[in-house]
Amino acid sequence: ALVVRHRMKSSGKWAQALSILREFEEKCGTPISKLKQVADAMTVEMHAGLASEGGSKLKMIISYVDNLPTGDEKGLFYALDLGGTNFRVLRVHLGGKEHRVVKQEFEEVSIPPHLMTGSSDALFDFIASALAKFVATESDGLHFSPDRQRELGFTFSFPVRQTSISSGTLIKWTKGFSIDDTVGQDVVGELTKAMERVGLDMRVTALVNDTIGTLAGGRYHNPDVVAAVILGTGTNAAYVERAHAIPKWHGLLPKSGDMVINMEWGNFRSSHLPLTEYDEALDAESLNPGEQIFEKIISGMYLGEIVRRVLCKMAEEAAFFGDTVPAKLKIPFILRTPHMSAMHHDTSPDLKIVAAKLKDILEISNSSLKMRKVIVELCDIVASRGARLSAAGIVGILKKIGRDTVKDGEKQKSVVSLDGGLYEHYTKFRTSMENTLVELLGEVSNNIVIEHSNDGSGIGAALLAASHSQYTEADES
Ligand code: BGC
Ligand code: MG
Repeated sequence: ALVVRHRMKSSGKWAQALSILREFEEKCGTPISKLKQVADAMTVEMHAGLASEGGSKLKMIISYVDNLPTGDEKGLFYALDLGGTNFRVLRVHLGGKEHRVVKQEFEEVSIPPHLMTGSSDALFDFIASALAKFVATESDGLHFSPDRQRELGFTFSFPVRQTSISSGTLIKWTKGFSIDDTVGQDVVGELTKAMERVGLDMRVTALVNDTIGTLAGGRYHNPDVVAAVILGTGTNAAYVERAHAIPKWHGLLPKSGDMVINMEWGNFRSSHLPLTEYDEALDAESLNPGEQIFEKIISGMYLGEIVRRVLCKMAEEAAFFGDTVPAKLKIPFILRTPHMSAMHHDTSPDLKIVAAKLKDILEISNSSLKMRKVIVELCDIVASRGARLSAAGIVGILKKIGRDTVKDGEKQKSVVSLDGGLYEHYTKFRTSMENTLVELLGEVSNNIVIEHSNDGSGIGAALLAASHSQYTEADES
């Protein structure tokens, strides 16, 4: 009798765990009808953000980039790409239309976590000295006359209110960075002061968001690129707008008639978003509560954490991992999105990768196959929601620029440059995003091309540094 009662008890618990999962799944639902509402809401907010400063949660930042690379860019330029857990320094030798990118070198440096929440000077000193070390590896004779200052494109992947192509103040940090004394400061000023402190003579000629860099890098290779999307640690999009469709722009109408807009779509929010109690708790306990809601359900910084939170609830309320809640499972952000991706892609019949991750990361060694299957399903729910919502966001942009319909017989291609670790490495996420685009766009999807812009943001910044150089082409040696 005891055995039977015990079994009943544990199967009751199992049912309870499954019901937690099912309820979560239902709340995460993204049927096409809902995605269409999200896309429409995105378009509406884009209009509102362009109409007036502060008119929407979407900042729709004017980038001051009114000309995208043409291929004519020439010379040696540096770029610095700061955005997530790593930053990169690049040296790019541009050879003009014929020779294009002659040579490209880069170094990647990971940012010590304490610098992400320390002081502004400490962060910028670290960056400037890494840059100085990299510059010191420049080989002699690289066509720099001694009186010519080196120039840098600075990719800074946070919301910045641009004040010119080469200056802008930080609105807020995102993605785990939180350094109070940088907020409101000109980040080019901060970098320039740090470069002076380490004795590096270099001028920032372009300050760009990673989406803008990716757009520029994409356009350099393909003239049909109209937008860029980052799906990485954070998420965001940029696109080419017609300047006269930007009521809040009071400057001169650019010759090209275009202006690139950094949407900062990570901060998008709508009543149509499928938010759950787990998302609300994650947000409330985050470094930036109430901000970046779209980002918090889509991007790489958060997906693994959402999975952890649901598992935690299943452990606490339905003894999913047995009578005690595994201690490690209670640690925020311990389950990273790459771990989640590895589990989600496990195709071994006994799900041994899932078992290994549970053991290595959460110190859970008694998982059953049945439990592991549930975990894979949970990963799928979280990844699909994020992927499908990002597709809806892209459709929102296409609608705004009138590329969501085919004007009879027209074969105009619209290319969207994609970059970021989530897009690049999380195959099921990428596939789901791409399939959802086709679902949403129908036959129009034949004219939409998603192109991976491999590290376009760094090259893009170097290209923009070149086109905004203080020297004219005649100065080229
Ligand atoms: C930032 C954006 C950035 C995106 C992708 C977001 O958190 O606010 O500026 O483009 O991450 O890196
Ligand atoms: Mg990047």
